[in-house]
Amino acid sequence: MFSEDEIERYARHLMLKEIGGEGQQRLKQATVTLVGLGGLGGTAGQYLAAAGVGRLRLVDPDTVSLSNLQRQVPYETADLNAPKPKVLARRLHALNPNVAIEHHERAFEANDLRGVDLALDGTDSFPARFAINQACVEAGVTLVSGALGPWSGQVGAFAPHVGAYQPCYACFVPSEPPEAEACAVHGVVGALAGVVACQMALEAIKLITGAGTPLLGRLWIYDALKAEGRTLNMAKDPACPVCAGAAAEKNTIAPLPH
Ligand SMILES: [Zn+2]
Repeated sequence: MFSEDEIERYARHLMLKEIGGEGQQRLKQATVTLVGLGGLGGTAGQYLAAAGVGRLRLVDPDTVSLSNLQRQVPYETADLNAPKPKVLARRLHALNPNVAIEHHERAFEANDLRGVDLALDGTDSFPARFAINQACVEAGVTLVSGALGPWSGQVGAFAPHVGAYQPCYACFVPSEPPEAEACAVHGVVGALAGVVACQMALEAIKLITGAGTPLLGRLWIYDALKAEGRTLNMAKDPACPVCAGAAAEKNTIAPLPH
């Protein structure tokens, strides 16, 4: 099941009652698509590779720019102008060669969800988020979504295919908010990206292993200036044009029996 190298590498997971050998096996068998490989997807990808997720699919059309490096710490100055998926794939392989990594230097396509257990959205534009959500709902793939404001961040998980009351991202954000903030316009404190990226990676690990209570249908909001977090319930919109009537029974992640 695990090689000696893997048993040593994942020792701190294997001793956790919420993960253990069975959870680690689930991680090894999981396939996760990461869309948007900046401060959120890039750092979340590092933790998922380190955790031993079996297969990662990396998708982003962007290259590394100098203003990225203030918060997108998987990249180095020497990576300037290189495609992010290619650089990140190399870095994740160096971190954990047990992980199979695909990289796609282009925008997200629905096909990126084939054979996937979970998708992480770390993009910073509403059109991209809506497209990823729609594709996840259609494919019955659970979505973990993260977003950054200048000094605040949020993470939610969406899986309308697992229950009639579960919202999708479009139930929560039906259209682009007028006050939509982009890092490029309003700025963002760099270390906050790490906080939100790690919360995304944690939720992915919980969903895959069945540990704890996932953020499904809930939104975690972190206020960095106050150092305070809170969690809200998100309501399903019964008239949501994206997920109303989304078929149940499509989910591929069954929770571990406890
Ligand atoms: Zn919806």
